[in-house]
Amino acid sequence: MVIVLKNNYDKAQLDRLTSWIKEMNIEPHFTYGATQTILGLVGDTSKIDVDMLGALDIVESIKRVSEPYKKANRKFHPEDTVIELENGTKIGRGNMMVMAGPCSIESEEQLTAIAEAVKKSGANVLRGGAFKPRTSPYAFQGMREDGLELLIKVKKITGLPVVTEIMDYEHLPLFKDVDIIQVGARNMQNFELLKHLGRCDKPILLKRGLSSTLEELLMSAEYIMSEGNERIILCERGIRTFETATRNTLDISAVPLLHQMTHLPVVIDPSHATGKSSLVPSMALAGIVAGADGLIIEVHNNPTKALCDGAQSLTPEQFDELSKRINEVKKVAYR
Ligand code: PEP
Ligand code: MN
Repeated sequence: MVIVLKNNYDKAQLDRLTSWIKEMNIEPHFTYGATQTILGLVGDTSKIDVDMLGALDIVESIKRVSEPYKKANRKFHPEDTVIELENGTKIGRGNMMVMAGPCSIESEEQLTAIAEAVKKSGANVLRGGAFKPRTSPYAFQGMREDGLELLIKVKKITGLPVVTEIMDYEHLPLFKDVDIIQVGARNMQNFELLKHLGRCDKPILLKRGLSSTLEELLMSAEYIMSEGNERIILCERGIRTFETATRNTLDISAVPLLHQMTHLPVVIDPSHATGKSSLVPSMALAGIVAGADGLIIEVHNNPTKALCDGAQSLTPEQFDELSKRINEVKKVAYR
């Protein structure tokens, strides 16, 4: 971290700043220029409150030269992380994970029919929301505990591992048979939830917040990792922009950028990114070509009657067609 001091800085204030820095076991190195004095900080600066430092009278500007995320940082862990589920399904370092299923679990018949169809097409994880984060409190909120029970029942029938969203850490005991716990975009910065998930032994699918930077996404991963759980899959699911033609804007560049920044696996969610089923196949394939380690895709056996997100759900037939193309495109993926 580099601190540029104001020209007319007060010596007593500078002494207070240097002793505060040294108390944190950080060494300040001074460079006296003709017009400016610069302080280079050497040591673990991740605990420094940059805003507080920037507000000091004697500070002109601050520049971080190392990233505030450590455990997620590829610099300290050059190899790609591979995450393995209980049944041996892997993601990362060339292992592709395709998660597919309905936005929301609606009934045993619905979930079983979709699970069997996506499995046949090659999906290796079943998705299905039980606790649903809905914008309106009057919209369908998910089948909650009953939905989770159905998900586990269908997991046992089909043998597919399952991923589903958690909204409250008090629900964690209900997730004991879930294979991957999803943190939705709206909860990416629910830090208490992240800390609790850091103390559990399940892989976490961490979705990028609606208006979050990649650094913020990695800082949320860091919250989980700093508590001990290092099995995190990052998910780009579109961000809010001025464009209203799509539900969100899929940030494809997030895939290669995240691969540079971190060793964690990265997946694309083309369903929530676009909000339109007609755009899902091309965006899914674009994600794979860009180097994504996997996909999470909404599939419904009767999209027009879906209780949630029907407009962006593929039919099982459309998903089957896409799966064939995924296998083709994988061969030319940029990784
Ligand atoms: C979901 O995957 O069911 C979901 C609600 O997605 P997001 O958090 O990305 O909006
Ligand atoms: Mn959805």
